[in-house]
Amino acid sequence: MQTTNNTPKTPVQTEHVKNLILGSGPAGLGAALYTARAQLEPVVLAGPEYGGQVSLTHIVENYPGFPEAVGGVELTELFKKQAERFGTRVVYDTATEVDLNQRPFRVKAYEKEYLADTLIVATGATPRHLAIPGETEFTGRGVSYCGTCDGFFFKGKEVVVVGGGDYALEEGVFLTRFANKVTVVHRRNELRASVILQERAKQNPRMAFVWDTVLNHIDGNGAVQQVELENIKTGQKEAFKTDGVFIFIGHVPNTQLFTGKLDMDPAGYLVANLHMETSVPGVFAAGEVADPHFRQVVTSAGMGAAAGIQATRFLEDHS
Ligand code: NAP
Repeated sequence: MQTTNNTPKTPVQTEHVKNLILGSGPAGLGAALYTARAQLEPVVLAGPEYGGQVSLTHIVENYPGFPEAVGGVELTELFKKQAERFGTRVVYDTATEVDLNQRPFRVKAYEKEYLADTLIVATGATPRHLAIPGETEFTGRGVSYCGTCDGFFFKGKEVVVVGGGDYALEEGVFLTRFANKVTVVHRRNELRASVILQERAKQNPRMAFVWDTVLNHIDGNGAVQQVELENIKTGQKEAFKTDGVFIFIGHVPNTQLFTGKLDMDPAGYLVANLHMETSVPGVFAAGEVADPHFRQVVTSAGMGAAAGIQATRFLEDHS
């Protein structure tokens, strides 16, 4: 995400750049590779989560060119290294305010203010919350949105995974490396996840499924101890003992900074055309911030490349 709760201080320095990129995931670094090779000397503001969601992914098995899979952190480092080789500067700072009323666009970050001739927004998306009692209270104390980050703390324990999509099953299977039992709780009786992941999960002896069921609340004493499950077909409620709750129910785009400044769809995703152009000429969008459909490392990197090419063409046309 590009916003944090810290109070922004007024940056003392202003830097004029040809191309500013917000976000350091596959889209941001993919864009940087292209604008760097076009000699725009891009600056990437890494944002609060360097590398974005892929850097929290244990193994990426479907990025072309890596037949034996590649670690999420390793892939991020490779993206960065390749972009830097052509002159990209990755800055560990986060945008706090943007003014898109005129070019160059004005972007304030904690440490510096940027005047950008072109802007590529690649701020990604953040895991969606269940919004049930106990969720916020126990986040970091049993409630998690990242198996790769927190799985280790559940060695020999039992956990619940909420969701029926690719993330839920991929992370659920990963969690069986640590947890003795992973119970997937899904609100329907049919999974949304791809067939290959479904097969892998169903064959795993440490995984169990509870269908047509939602969590009503998460309870504990300092740490998660149990959840209340409710079968939405029968209305039957049950206290279910668990040491952890991993929530994988989709994402919300990180577009708060652009409310009222760039066109968004009803779910808050940036609206961009096939050329990655947003509603403001010179501002481009790439990756999950503008993509509720595909959400793959390869599609995000591809959108980043397209945005980089378009930003370069835009500057050629407007110089
Ligand atoms: P998703 O496919 O949208 O699945 C979200 C799941 O959460 C759905 O099963 C949904 O239930 C459930 N859900 C949503 N809101 C809920 C709520 N309030 N309470 C309970 N359950 C709720 O999201 P995702 O799994 O995060 O995946 C997002 C995208 O990334 C997908 O396109 C996926 O293919 C992609 N992805 C791919 C890979 C891979 O290829 N290896 C890995 C991870 C993600 P319903 O099914 O009933 O709607």
